[in-house]
Amino acid sequence: VALGYDEETAVAEAQRCIQCKKRPCVQGCPVGVDIPEFIGRVAERDFAEAARILKTKNSLPAVCGRVCPQEDQCEKYCTLTKKFGSVAIGRLERFVADWEADHAEHPGHVEALIKPEPTGYKVAVIGSGPSGLTLAGDLARMGHAVTIFEAFHKPGGVLVYGIPEFRLPKSIVQREVDYIQSLGVEVKTDAVMGRMASIKELMEEKGFHAVFIGVGAGLPSFMNIPGENLVGVYSANEFLTRANLMKAYRPDSPTPIKVGKNMVTVGGGNVAMDAARTAKRLGAEHSYIVYRRAREQMPARAEEIEHAEEEGIEFRLLCNPLQILGDDKGRVVGMECIRMELGEPDDSGRRRPVPVKGSEFVIDCEVVIMSIGSGANPLLTKTTEGLELNKWGNIVADPETGATSIPGVYAGGDIVTGAATVIEAMGAGRLAAEAINKYLWEECKKD
Ligand code: FAD
Ligand code: SF4
Repeated sequence: VALGYDEETAVAEAQRCIQCKKRPCVQGCPVGVDIPEFIGRVAERDFAEAARILKTKNSLPAVCGRVCPQEDQCEKYCTLTKKFGSVAIGRLERFVADWEADHAEHPGHVEALIKPEPTGYKVAVIGSGPSGLTLAGDLARMGHAVTIFEAFHKPGGVLVYGIPEFRLPKSIVQREVDYIQSLGVEVKTDAVMGRMASIKELMEEKGFHAVFIGVGAGLPSFMNIPGENLVGVYSANEFLTRANLMKAYRPDSPTPIKVGKNMVTVGGGNVAMDAARTAKRLGAEHSYIVYRRAREQMPARAEEIEHAEEEGIEFRLLCNPLQILGDDKGRVVGMECIRMELGEPDDSGRRRPVPVKGSEFVIDCEVVIMSIGSGANPLLTKTTEGLELNKWGNIVADPETGATSIPGVYAGGDIVTGAATVIEAMGAGRLAAEAINKYLWEECKKD
């Protein structure tokens, strides 16, 4: 795993930045962090000022520095990328955020001490992932009374239940949640909205003037092949939630997890890498990735694939599962796969994998983790009359404001875009916070 920079390395790396006038890196950042400015301060060893600059645009830098796909964002556009390799913007972001947490008098959150005048407006935020946390922090700083309703017993969304500890320590997410709470945001956990209260009830009976929906895309997809109901088959979502949030690796865990000698994860994205690496850490002798296309077509970040390879994850590429095999007690004993070859490009422009006739083979395994994507959970959206959804069940929302088809109800993050990234969810939260603030002052009457 990436261990982060020490001071000397960070300063040396920051000094590589040539402070381009046109700042192409900033254009590649979804929240517009003043990258050359904060890197310039690192080069001068003024880490506190670097942190201040960073935090004016990004409220979760310690998270983003660890999990953002920088190679597709800021670092992709860095002037140095082609000839010398990009300045390691993400690693510097992580260094600055961690330095601040370790050194600052009020770690990270000096501005939390300045409490704004209460406006008298109440906003409900459903879901405590990066979109909801960012929005809640922004609205609280504007003086609104914000309550987050989270279905799980811990806030943080995918940052706590999905991304494993070895990539994103949970103490860092907790630090950010603490900060949001220090701004006055109330966090109600074990609160499954759509079940315990509808949006209509929140607005008409509980006195909330506006609602933000940031419930993510946590509904797992399966392949619909024979054997997916056998004991030992998990969705990546369930597997990671048990391991991360429910601490299933502990012997005293109330929700244990099945660990096999051979564990197979199906899929080629970041989630699949996280699941396979978690399986290895839980004790699998062989942790396989089965993916139907080739390595260069894997959607996971290059860094995640490399780290998985270094840790000994065994890749079975150009292979597609046909069925999961079970014993007479209904437990997984293997997975039958077929080899694939790449044919003509499909609609996505990627070469279509085509089965090679007669190439079926079996991987012996006791656990199969399906990690082939996830969609919109219908629990809340189906209980909200008048909320426009697209054909995949995602909420239709204005990309500039997050406004939905219901006045006063806004949405953002994965529930709108489908599974995307932390920084995109944060960006959506930020835009919606501005729009909600405007709505409250201009269109909403206080009781
Ligand atoms: P989420 O983070 O999904 O949070 C939604 C929250 O809403 C959850 O806590 C959920 O419990 C809650 N909720 C749902 N329904 C209800 C309800 N009815 N009532 C109350 N609460 C509800 N992105 C990256 O940028 N880099 C990465 O490295 C990366 N790795 C990932 C690894 C994994 C395993 C996964 C699953 C995703 C990863 N992503 C990564 C994607 C990223 O985490 C998501 O795009 C992002 O978290 C979406 O944020 P969100 O605010 O929309 O919702
Ligand atoms: Fe520095 Fe690269 Fe940004 Fe130029 S593009 S200012 S070199 S980080």
